[in-house]
Amino acid sequence: MVITVASGKGGTGKTTVAVNLGLALSKAGQPPVHIVDCDVEEPNAALFLHPTLEEREEVGQLIPEVNLDLCTFCGRCAEVCQYSAIAVVGQRVLVFPELCHGCGSCTLNCPEGAIREKLDVMGVLEMGRAGPIAFAQGRMNVGEAMAVPIIRQLKRQAIPEDHDGQVIILDAPPGTSCPVVESMRGSDYVLMVTEPTPFGLHDLRLAVQVARDELGLPVGVVINREGIGDEGVDAYCEEEGIPILMRIPLDRRIAEAYSEGIPMVEALPEYQEAFLALYREIAHRVGVEVAP
Ligand code: SF4
Ligand code: SF4
Repeated sequence: MVITVASGKGGTGKTTVAVNLGLALSKAGQPPVHIVDCDVEEPNAALFLHPTLEEREEVGQLIPEVNLDLCTFCGRCAEVCQYSAIAVVGQRVLVFPELCHGCGSCTLNCPEGAIREKLDVMGVLEMGRAGPIAFAQGRMNVGEAMAVPIIRQLKRQAIPEDHDGQVIILDAPPGTSCPVVESMRGSDYVLMVTEPTPFGLHDLRLAVQVARDELGLPVGVVINREGIGDEGVDAYCEEEGIPILMRIPLDRRIAEAYSEGIPMVEALPEYQEAFLALYREIAHRVGVEVAP
C-alpha cells in the first residue's frame, strides 16, 4: 500500500505524521515499511529517522549533446523539439537544458547521427535503512528548476515493483504544484495534514482539488495542532465527506520533542497506538487486510 502524506503548505506537521506513522508500524513489527522523502528541495525526514545511507546515485535528465563535426545545421532537431529546447542559429546549435524534457526526439530525428544524449545531473538519490525501515530521499542540486524528474526517479528506485504486503509512506513536498502531483501519482491513499485555521483550510481545499478531484485518489485528513484556530476545517470535511482520521492536539511536549528531533512515538508512547489506529483506518478504507 502506498500512502502519500501531503499538505497544502509547509510547516503543518506533514513530515511528523509520515515519520511517526512509519515508526509506529515498524515498532509493531509488521508489515515491512519504506519511508521515501519526496521533498527533494528540503528533505528533512532523515533528521528524525537518522538513517544509515548506503547507496548514493546521481540523477538527472538526458539532454542532447551535438557533435559539430557531423552536424550540417539542417535544423531538423529544432523542428521536432516541442519545447524549444534546441535551436540552430547559423553554424551553432544551442541547447537549453532547463527547457529540455529529455524526450529524445532530436537524437532520433537527426539525419547525421550528430546528437548523443548525456546526463544533465540535477541531484542525488540516497538510500539506506533506519533500523527495520527502508529509507530513501532525493536531494535536488541548488539552483535546479525541476524537481519532478528527481521525484520520478526516486519513486522508481525506492518503491519495489511488487510491494504487496508492504507499506510505502511518501512524504510529499509542500504545496500543490507539479512535484506534489508527481509524488501523489499512483498512491493508494493521500493523507492531508492540516491546521484548523482559515489558512490551513484554504491550503487544504487546494490540496484536495489536486488529489481527489484531479487524480481521483481517496483522501483523509489529519488535523494537527488542534486547539488553535476554528471549526472551519471540520465543517469543510463534513460538507465534502472527507474523513478526519486523526487529531493531534496543540501540545508543548510535542513541540519540544520536535525541536530536539525526537519522534512523537518515542517521546510520547501513547502516540504509538494512535498512529497504528490511523494506519488501520487507512487500510480499512483502501480495502487492505491488516493483522489484528
Ligand atoms: S538535426 Fe542533427 S544535423 Fe541537423 S542541425 Fe540538428 S544536430 Fe545538426
Ligand atoms: S530531448 Fe526532446 S525536449 Fe530535449 S531538446 Fe531534444 S527534442 Fe527537445
